[in-house]
Amino acid sequence: MRALAEQSIAIIGRGLAGLTLAFRMVQAGLRPTIFGKAHGPANASRCAQGIVCNKGLIFAESPLFRAKLQSLKNLEAWLSTVEKASGLTIPRTWIGVDEPYWSEEDFQTTVARVYRGNFWGCYRPKNRPAHPWLSDFKKPEGYLHYPDDAWFDVDRAMNALEKACVLQGAPFIEETIADLKPLLDRFDHTVVAAGAMSMDLLRTLNLEVPKSFQVAGQSLVWKHAAISETRILVKGTLSLAVLPDRRILGSSSWKPEPGRDPDLDSDRTQLLAQGAASFGFTSPVAKDIQSNWGTRLRFTDRMPALGLWPEASVQKRLSILTGFYKNGQQLADLCAVQLLRELQGEPLSEFGEAFHISRFFRSGRRAPGSPPRHCALNGSENKAGTD
Ligand SMILES: Cc1cc2nc3c(=O)[nH]c(=O)nc-3n(C[C@H](O)[C@H](O)[C@H](O)COP(=O)(O)OP(=O)(O)OC[C@H]3O[C@@H](n4cnc5c(N)ncnc54)[C@H](O)[C@@H]3O)c2cc1C
Repeated sequence: MRALAEQSIAIIGRGLAGLTLAFRMVQAGLRPTIFGKAHGPANASRCAQGIVCNKGLIFAESPLFRAKLQSLKNLEAWLSTVEKASGLTIPRTWIGVDEPYWSEEDFQTTVARVYRGNFWGCYRPKNRPAHPWLSDFKKPEGYLHYPDDAWFDVDRAMNALEKACVLQGAPFIEETIADLKPLLDRFDHTVVAAGAMSMDLLRTLNLEVPKSFQVAGQSLVWKHAAISETRILVKGTLSLAVLPDRRILGSSSWKPEPGRDPDLDSDRTQLLAQGAASFGFTSPVAKDIQSNWGTRLRFTDRMPALGLWPEASVQKRLSILTGFYKNGQQLADLCAVQLLRELQGEPLSEFGEAFHISRFFRSGRRAPGSPPRHCALNGSENKAGTD
């Protein structure tokens, strides 16, 4: 097998996963060709609302939770590296995330959700009184503060990743790939990072694919009279970025129906009502709201999938980087690093092992090392994580 540096590489997918991998590759001196349209209905990344956080119904012992904590330590430095390589600024804030509660009962419900009994579903939270609070919001009783969590502008991060790749000579081809076979014939190695469409693409090679779900969602953006406050809020599964120039609320979840347009208007009405009730803001006028929607890919254990495709027919010519579901912003780089390590023949970290695509195949497990205890084989549910 030739060294990776001598191979031609195709990446399919111009979302955060594909671009992050492309950026890691150009940093390593490789020149991948990236296929896909810059904007499109399947692109989840261009409509992510930007929150990175460790809170959720995830047991501290799960690899997904540990990976999220790990990524929070590295993300800001990574964004600085992308800025430097591209010359573009990526707006971001690392002030922590707040979860308001509106009554004692609400506090108990929130804490029960966050802590899940004896296990911690979040890291280093603090309980704080609600003063000072956002000036145009109903004041809550208090709020839980998650100090390590953050927000960054995903759209601008993607523009910066693209520019950094172009500056290093990586070509972008505005093309939707209908069939994987010609690409596998043309390139030494092909990476499928096509988000929600990844499994459909793999089926064009007649590969058996693990069970997965497409989950669509919407986030809403509206401008606001200039304010000085910046606050990142969460409440249950909803989040709201209150930025000096705009607000971003998200996200909803629904099952997309092939061939049918989603009812975005009714979803938006519902999302706004939930947002106003959860955070205590006054709803903006409908005409001022911009809706963004996209489709995410979720595997049964809610973990991403990466690695060389474990089937002899494609040998070492095909790999995958997808299934980020709700955590793409947080985990794309961590997973890209692991995939690149595998392609370069280096050992994987515990996250590379836990997220490896071979966890879904009984006979496809790579040596050395047995599957970690928490890996679900053949797609059985990992009850530990839902967010
Ligand atoms: C409304 C919403 C809000 C979200 N908010 C957050 C958040 O706050 N924080 C967070 O961490 N995550 C969030 N997410 C999740 C996050 O957006 C995803 O996990 C992440 O963007 C997935 O990235 P991806 O590159 O795998 O997929 P995508 O961004 O969907 O990219 C896939 C790309 O592949 C392309 N493609 C598909 N098929 C083909 C083909 N045949 N040929 C060529 N190209 C193809 C698509 O056009 C697209 O460009 C949110 C998602 C949604 C929908």
